[in-house]
Amino acid sequence: MSREVRAAPGNAVALGTTPRLPSYLPEEDRAPWEMFLAQIDRVLPHLGRLSRWADVLRRPKRVLVVDVPLRADSGEILHFEGYRVHHNVARGPGKGGIRYHPDVSLADVMALAGWMTVKNATVNLPYGGAKGGVRFDPAACSIAELERVTRRYASEIGLLIGPEQDIPAPDVNTGEREMAWIMDTYSMNSGASTPRVVTGKPVSMGGSLGRRDATGRGVVIVAREAMIRLGMPMTGARVAVQGFGNVGSAAARTFVEYGAKIVAVQNRSGAIHAPDGLDPVALTDFLAGREGSLVEFPGAHPIDADAFWSVDCDVLVPAALARSITSKNAPQIRARLIVEGANGPTTPQAEDILIDAGTTVVPDVIANAGGVIVSYFEWVQNASSFAWSEQDINLRLDRILDDAFGAVWQEARRLQLPLRVAAFLIGCTRVLEAHELRGLYP
Ligand code: NAD
Repeated sequence: MSREVRAAPGNAVALGTTPRLPSYLPEEDRAPWEMFLAQIDRVLPHLGRLSRWADVLRRPKRVLVVDVPLRADSGEILHFEGYRVHHNVARGPGKGGIRYHPDVSLADVMALAGWMTVKNATVNLPYGGAKGGVRFDPAACSIAELERVTRRYASEIGLLIGPEQDIPAPDVNTGEREMAWIMDTYSMNSGASTPRVVTGKPVSMGGSLGRRDATGRGVVIVAREAMIRLGMPMTGARVAVQGFGNVGSAAARTFVEYGAKIVAVQNRSGAIHAPDGLDPVALTDFLAGREGSLVEFPGAHPIDADAFWSVDCDVLVPAALARSITSKNAPQIRARLIVEGANGPTTPQAEDILIDAGTTVVPDVIANAGGVIVSYFEWVQNASSFAWSEQDINLRLDRILDDAFGAVWQEARRLQLPLRVAAFLIGCTRVLEAHELRGLYP
């Protein structure tokens, strides 16, 4: 919202305006950030006196753009662009993953950091919101090249990260291996072994049991809670999953453990349909090391990428990239419940269409919070140099998500709001209260 800043009494000129968009964001790279702003706009009317602080949510606190040079195996020198954004740190250190993707942009990372601010506050973790990314194709790199990119990027963002400042974690195309390299690089540069600087590490070097499947498991815990309230039985529920990576595959396995069946899967390579249900463990094994071949999975038949959206199912889990459910495919969707495993998979226009059609959309900021919750457990375990059992972790994860979802559901019912607006209202209220209490420095 563009707003004039009034001159103090006696001043002849106005101080200026608070622009809606930061000037450093190029015109061709605004869509993801505009989507986050549109979501913030929907919560503003409900923020009461705190809305006077709302502009802090409309601009990231700090943005770092770095050059990441790579000496390729061929000897050629390449340069990639890297980002680390702190959207807000009013409630604690920045927390958010690192994405490697040829299309990742500054606006993407800003929006993802904004969603981390809201998510961490909605589930009440003592963190702010951050995110990072490097714009390159990791699939085109050797492991040695990936290690060099990761270590150089980690050194460049060393200005911002630290166990009490900003704690990265995995996101698309990064995982335990990259976290180990970042932990080692930070430790070598700082002269002290610092496991707490990242989460999502291998268990053998301070990672947490249960972290690998935590986001997918969280998706199912939240789906379970929504289904109880909607009167939908879990046993036999038909689930379609878009994206079969870390989040999608773990969600599919957990759904089957809970008695549901997976009737359709889509990934980068195509889509398959299995009306009687498919075995997600067998699919994970089948795909290991050959991401191109989903459509050849025995026991399911290939369908068009487009047809995936109209598959007859009860629950749909988008767990790939942002903006995959748009006003184009939303009218085709037959699921009664959508649980957002990915960040930002539903555009605001698509969400309006779905809600009008009676579909319940459980937003990303609660649906995929399982990963950051267990990341928080990892950070706490590292601080006390003590490891919890997997059972302990899963129980605590269940309790936090159950409570947080219950609060969001209740707020939505109380104010007659969509779940996303209710979740944003809870999260943004906590963030803005922290701002108000801390005050403006100086
Ligand atoms: P991943 O790289 O492990 O898997 C991504 C999956 O999406 C792959 O199966 C890939 O084939 C598929 N995909 C990519 N482009 C596609 C397309 N155009 N159409 C269909 N499928 C496509 O990534 P991930 O870690 O599982 O993350 C998936 C989403 O979940 C992202 O939005 C991420 O931000 C979000 N998320 C991840 C975590 C985590 O702990 N990993 C936590 C919270 C949210």
